[in-house]
Parts: sequence; C-alpha cells; structure tokens
Amino acid sequence: MIEDKNQQRTALSELGEFGLIEHLTKSFKVNQESTIKGIGDDAAVLDFKTKKAVITTDLLVEGVHFDLSYMPLKHLGYKAVIVNLSDVYAMNATATQITVSIAVSNRFPLEAIEELYAGIETAAKLYNVDVVGGDTTSSTSGLLISITALGKADEKDLVYRNGAKSNDLLVVSGDIGGAYLGLQVMEREKQVFKVNPNSQPDLDQYAYIIERQLKPEARKDIVVLLKDLDVKPTSMIDISDGLSSEIIHLCKQSNVGCDLYEEKIPLDPQVISTCEEFNMDSTTIALNGGEDYELLMTISQEDFPKIKANPNLTVIGYMTEESRGMHLVTRSETKIPLKAQGWNSLSE
Ligand code: ADP
Ligand code: MG
Repeated sequence: MIEDKNQQRTALSELGEFGLIEHLTKSFKVNQESTIKGIGDDAAVLDFKTKKAVITTDLLVEGVHFDLSYMPLKHLGYKAVIVNLSDVYAMNATATQITVSIAVSNRFPLEAIEELYAGIETAAKLYNVDVVGGDTTSSTSGLLISITALGKADEKDLVYRNGAKSNDLLVVSGDIGGAYLGLQVMEREKQVFKVNPNSQPDLDQYAYIIERQLKPEARKDIVVLLKDLDVKPTSMIDISDGLSSEIIHLCKQSNVGCDLYEEKIPLDPQVISTCEEFNMDSTTIALNGGEDYELLMTISQEDFPKIKANPNLTVIGYMTEESRGMHLVTRSETKIPLKAQGWNSLSE
C-alpha cells in the first residue's frame, strides 16, 4: 500500500559484503567528542572520561516486530534507532553512539537497504548520535535489524526503575495510545487493499496516530526539560509495552504500590475519536497499547510546583505503600487492580 515501488533493483551480490558496508556507511560522520574511532577498524573506541556509560540493545525481526507491507523501510530504519534512544533517555542519560547490525535476504535489492539506512541516518543526525559500527550478514528469508545505543551521564543524574517512594507523583510525558491505534488503522487499510487494490485510502483524519506508529520520536527533550526544571525523577522507564505494564515494572522494582487515575491519562483527541470509531475503550488502549515511547516517571511531591504548569508532563497518579497494591481508579471512583496485558493480548 504505502510500500515504496522503487523501480531500480541492484542485487546485493553485485557489491559483495565489504562493498555493501562501504556503500552504506560512507556518508556517516563523527560528531561526538567521545567517539575516538568509529567505523572502519575491528572495534570502535569511545572515551566517556568521568561519565558513566549507558548501553542498550534491541532486535527487530520482520513478521514479528514489523510488517513491510505498511512500514516503509525508511521509517523502519528511523524507528529502530528511536526505540533504542528512548531506552537511553529513560535512564536520564544523553545518547551518543549507535551500532547497526542487519541480516538481509536476497529478496531485498540494494535500493531497499539504502532506504533503511536513509532512515537510520536521519534519526542519527536529528538526535546527534554517531553510527560507530555494526555487522552485515545474510538471512534466508526476512530482514533482521539490531541496534545498540550508547549514552553517557553523570553518575548522580542516572535514574533507575527502582527508586520510586510511597507518595511520589506518577508522571507521564506527552499523550499515549496513539501508536497502537495507528497500527489498527493501517491493519484495516491493508485488509481493504487486499480486497480492492485500487482503493485510495483517505488517512488525513488519522495523520497523528499513524505518525505515532510509523515515525515515533524519543523524548530527548524531556531529559533536557527535567534538567532545566531542576527535577530528578526518583524512577523512570520508557513506554514501549503499554502504560499498565510499565507502571507495574516501576512498582515491583521499587517495592511500592500505586493509584493511577483514569481521568488523568493524557489522550490526543484523535485517539478518542478513533477509539469511538473502532468501538474500543480508550483507557484500555492507553493502558495496554504500547509503542508510544513516552517517558513514565515518579517525582517527589516537593518537585510538583516545578512541573505543574508544564504542558509536556501530566500527573496521572501517585505511589502508595506496597501493601496497598497497584490500582486504576476509574472515573466512577471504583478501584480495579492493574494488570500487565501488553499489546499482544489486545490483538487476540
Ligand atoms: P568484522 O569482520 O571485524 O566484523 P566487518 O567487515 O563486518 O568487520 O565491518 C567493518 C567495519 O564496518 C566495522 O567497523 C564494523 O563495525 C562496520 N560495519 C559493518 N557492518 C555495518 C553496518 N551494517 N552498519 C554500520 N557499520 C557496519
Ligand atoms: Mg562483521
């Protein structure tokens, strides 16, 4: 449907492995002063001086994590970088380098891999991270992409999942549920397209939620904002699997309970209207949808005045003693135990 119908097809075998690596990586530039040696030797060399190094990695598998029938390769490359940077920012750290490993079948021409790398390069430039290495190999069928992100932080600034205290405020950046609904819209269009390949979908009214799915951003700006506001969260995590399961991670690792207020969950108007159209409950989507890559954090009550006027941060509840358990307080003020469903169970 949205797939790029690039006419030219150069077989990867024409370049060979080294030719391919050279071709894909020749335009990458080094900007970070911590990068001593980037691509081209047996290993990259980095120097974080007095800072702590942060490292995170993700593996994305075609057919499991992405579907190329509606995910353009450029977007896939971009998103693969974003999901890793999001984990670095969730440590309250600065992202500095990435490595990129791919396994490709001969089903993909050079032009397709160029698209993938165009997305990777765009994200690397925008977030100011150096691509310092990777690996390139063949696969028998699909595409696999694994990105590792590195970052740095002063030890005192690092924020873990286990620091939340009873009475801390539970705070989320941006709004949630959009990425999952964007996927629902594209799944529906894919089915329509199967029946009628000439149909031209009008997706304007879903622009925001489709963008949330296809071109998510990592909240680097929130790490900067927190620093400007002089707020260090007591715990933090990024929302990849859904609000509910991320809250449960913070609670379990911090040995606290929590009350999450349904009416406080920030939703974009497009999320609300699309939920109505799909006959879905917007709270269920927000709790279990995932892939929003917003930051979920707990902050001390005394920091509330510093964040309360900020449109990027919403207080959605507070932490309690562990023995009180983890609950959603509904609009009708009933308490329901929080469950970690994750987006898998939504699609059953
Ligand atoms: P080795 O045989 O030691 O693994 P390679 O020939 O695979 O080395 O890689 C040569 C250089 O190119 C290394 O710096 C490596 O990190 C980099 N590289 C290889 N594949 C990729 C890729 N897909 N993206 C970015 N850099 C890569
Ligand atoms: Mg190699």
